[in-house]
Amino acid sequence: MSRIPSPLFNCQQATLLVERRAAAPLPVRPRVQLWAHLHLCPHCRRYALQSARLAHAARPAAEAAVPANLALPAAARARMQQLFDAHGSAQG
Ligand SMILES: [Zn+2]
Repeated sequence: MSRIPSPLFNCQQATLLVERRAAAPLPVRPRVQLWAHLHLCPHCRRYALQSARLAHAARPAAEAAVPANLALPAAARARMQQLFDAHGSAQG
């Protein structure tokens, strides 16, 4: 008896494949399994749609150049230093 891959693998696996698919094309088997899962699962279909929309909306910010003279304000540096000092003394 041959084992037929189930399209009903869980939603956690499906959403992971949705994210992997956004980064690179999936191999045939997981692509077909994901297609079947998305066909049957409205929650993952919604997740896939929202994930694509978020990626599209965030793309300009991710591709924006960071100014070379960008610096952390002095007050923020001081707060971070206090946190580092407090954390360091707790471990030491
Ligand atoms: Zn699902």
